[in-house]
Amino acid sequence: MRTVHLRFYASLNDFLPTRWKQRTFTLGFAGQPTVREILVQLQIPPPEVGFILAENQAVDFDYRPQEGERVSFYPIFYELLPGSPLNALPPERPPRFLLDTHLGRLARYLRMLGFDAEHFPAPDPGDGVLVHRAAQEGRVLLTRDRRLLARKAVRYGYFVRATAPQAQLVEVVDRFALHTLIHPFSRCLCCNVQLEPVEARAVAAQLPTGVRGQYTDFYRCPSCDRVYWEGSHHARMQRLIDQVVRSRST
Ligand SMILES: [Zn+2]
Repeated sequence: MRTVHLRFYASLNDFLPTRWKQRTFTLGFAGQPTVREILVQLQIPPPEVGFILAENQAVDFDYRPQEGERVSFYPIFYELLPGSPLNALPPERPPRFLLDTHLGRLARYLRMLGFDAEHFPAPDPGDGVLVHRAAQEGRVLLTRDRRLLARKAVRYGYFVRATAPQAQLVEVVDRFALHTLIHPFSRCLCCNVQLEPVEARAVAAQLPTGVRGQYTDFYRCPSCDRVYWEGSHHARMQRLIDQVVRSRST
């Protein structure tokens, strides 16, 4: 049995019941658990933790707190890059994402802003496949399944709080500090492949009437041959892009 005083900071409080939010609380654990095991018991995704202090000493996930020790957990602060002693930061800016089966709309929205967002459509390939792919490609696993993020092989991961796709997009852009890295119309919404500039002449046959004379810059997906231009996204999507870009200052 181990009695440990725990304190969680900032966004990690989202996972705690109200009585434990924003304060130090004391729990008893069977055996001598590691801090990772404590996190998993409390259903807090380890990949969201960027920094752990045990009595003011930085420790890693394998550390076993001593009896009566005070342990503090801090999330990754992407806006204060660089800096996570736990190597919890994805290696690239912007990070590349892998989304679970249920986040298909969010995947399309992220691609709309130009971010690399791979997605497994239904049927669900199973946790093992997702985790393996994310690990192999160094992708950040986005999911609303906390059990998935508790798996040890998940190095980079994030539990998406919002349930509505548009709110999820705003949340992910905000959490990963992506505002300055947005490049709309640079990635195919269907294939997640980067678009290539193409001459208007070359795609004239694929364009609706009225578009040909109105726009000058066209892009084509080398994978599926879809053609994109500034006006090709629905007005609704354009409003969403504007909203996300603006959301930083609000
Ligand atoms: Zn495509």
